[in-house]
Amino acid sequence: MSRPALLRFVVFAIIVMAVPLMPFVPSFWVTLLDFVGLASLVALGLVLLTGVGGMTSFGQAAFVGFGAYATAVLTTGWGWSPWATLPVSLIVTVGAAVLIGLVTVRLSGHYLPLGTIAWGISFYYLFGNMKSLGAYDGISSIPPLQVLGHNLLDSRSFYFVVWGFVLASILATANLLDSRIGRSIRALRSGSAAAESVGIDVWRAKLLVFVYAAFLAGLSGWLYAHFQRAVTPGVFNLTVGIEYLLMAVLGGAGHIYGAILGAGIVVVLKNFLQDVLPVLFGAGGNYDGIVFGILLIAMLQGAREGLWPVVARRIGREEPRSVVTDSRLPAREMTATGGELLAVKSVRKEFGGLVAVNDVTFEVGRGEIVGLIGPNGAGKSTTFNLVTGVLPLTGGEILFKGERIDGLSPARIAERRIARTFQHVKLAPTMSVIENVAIGAHLRGRAGMLAGILRLDRSEENQIFAEAARQIERVGLASVMHQPAGSLALGQQRLAEIARALCLDPELLLLDEPAAGLRHMEKQALAGLIRRLRDEGMSVLLVEHDMDFVMQLTDHIVVLNFGARIATGAPAVIQRDPAVIEAYLGTAA
Ligand code: ADP
Ligand code: MG
Repeated sequence: MSRPALLRFVVFAIIVMAVPLMPFVPSFWVTLLDFVGLASLVALGLVLLTGVGGMTSFGQAAFVGFGAYATAVLTTGWGWSPWATLPVSLIVTVGAAVLIGLVTVRLSGHYLPLGTIAWGISFYYLFGNMKSLGAYDGISSIPPLQVLGHNLLDSRSFYFVVWGFVLASILATANLLDSRIGRSIRALRSGSAAAESVGIDVWRAKLLVFVYAAFLAGLSGWLYAHFQRAVTPGVFNLTVGIEYLLMAVLGGAGHIYGAILGAGIVVVLKNFLQDVLPVLFGAGGNYDGIVFGILLIAMLQGAREGLWPVVARRIGREEPRSVVTDSRLPAREMTATGGELLAVKSVRKEFGGLVAVNDVTFEVGRGEIVGLIGPNGAGKSTTFNLVTGVLPLTGGEILFKGERIDGLSPARIAERRIARTFQHVKLAPTMSVIENVAIGAHLRGRAGMLAGILRLDRSEENQIFAEAARQIERVGLASVMHQPAGSLALGQQRLAEIARALCLDPELLLLDEPAAGLRHMEKQALAGLIRRLRDEGMSVLLVEHDMDFVMQLTDHIVVLNFGARIATGAPAVIQRDPAVIEAYLGTAA
């Protein structure tokens, strides 16, 4: 957390902890707040999973159930003391999350939420039918928590434990988001292609956030079991899972305090509705589900960002991140100049019947700027996707420094120091420019999840952000460094992508139409930058439609048309090549 954020957290923590000490706060409200705290933990996990990671889960109640049942069984059946079961309950939950995550997280699009609904339903019936776990009656007579020899039987004393955990979780989550691993989770929002292009193992990042969210749900379940002193399969219920999701969406999926706000609103509203609605309808029943359903749809239709951003605007803006410019990431050597760096050999890509890249061969030498040109649809971007591992080859070979790289994943290829930009810009629009660019340095950092949470990663983080700032200055975006990337003009967003790619410290840089949307002066500055990079020993493969730009900059040009290479040579030769002129002017019959 930044200093102002930490200050706000401390104020929040003091207010939260003071509430039950006020004698005029009725016990009924304290109990309600206990439930808000329990729900907040689950919603906090969903903020990360759904709001930040973009994975919608209706099934978080299952992990609450695992945490609750684990301690119920250990305390009532095996005579364990409640605190001793905490690590075991969390391990059980995390174990279940890894297994469920392995099969669920790979699902894409709508199949992921559907998958979570499926296990949301199945665990309810599974636990309901297990006689050893009390079937639908569940397990009762669970012992209360003890602190300093006192049983936490009343809601006022329990409050401090629940909210102590909530506050710790807020701190841990905020620290995690502001760390190397947290950025890799946030990068999922810019699309997995962008994350993979800088070496992030997207699947691992997804599993990590999935397990983290489950961990918080399991913690909530463990607390719940000792608060209610009983568990039933009802904790697993899908409707409960939907309520958790509503909390995250209502508060503002993606905002830490949104989880607390959403949990507060839903828990209090539910309590109120359960009193009022049966009277209104003149019959008993769970009508609150209808209201929550309408609310969820209304939020998704009208206020995707949730309520927290509205509140946050009144509290104040986040300070821009401070950058310590004198720290440096260790720079790596370029391998000696001269000779071939990238060799594309008879590479072919078919999309069904369409041959997008037709047995294309070319090389990029060390310290060379090579242009890849051709009319729209010629296969230039597809070639980039083949070199960077985004698409599998239909045929041919790609060698980098003499080693085969075709068949490797994009992240493995990024590890070999090949960086790229995208024709269709892929930045996380709500993250600041510098945070987006810092994602590019993912492979140059080491800090893991725990180091991030415990703030042991600060010197490495300073190095990463100093490097990001340096690359941003290089591409000429210093003045907008702290603005959200989505607020930049498209040409500037392209430059930000170049800075992100440079943070990888690449030996080979692939630029897909970098000058599109730039003004004349900006193009000249970009050309100057690319030349400087070349002089430092970097090799560049450049796709660009602006012919002046390409001709003045490149050492060598490869021309594609309908997937096939129709010419190759020095710019002066290409300019006069009849086949090229024909392809561009379309005079062919
Ligand atoms: P360029 O970048 O040279 O303009 P592309 O490489 O984007 O061209 O596209 C080459 C051809 O391959 C086009 O006809 C395009 O429609 C097709 N193509 C590109 N990507 C796909 C895909 N994922 N699926 C099917 N066809 C594709
Ligand atoms: Mg293209």
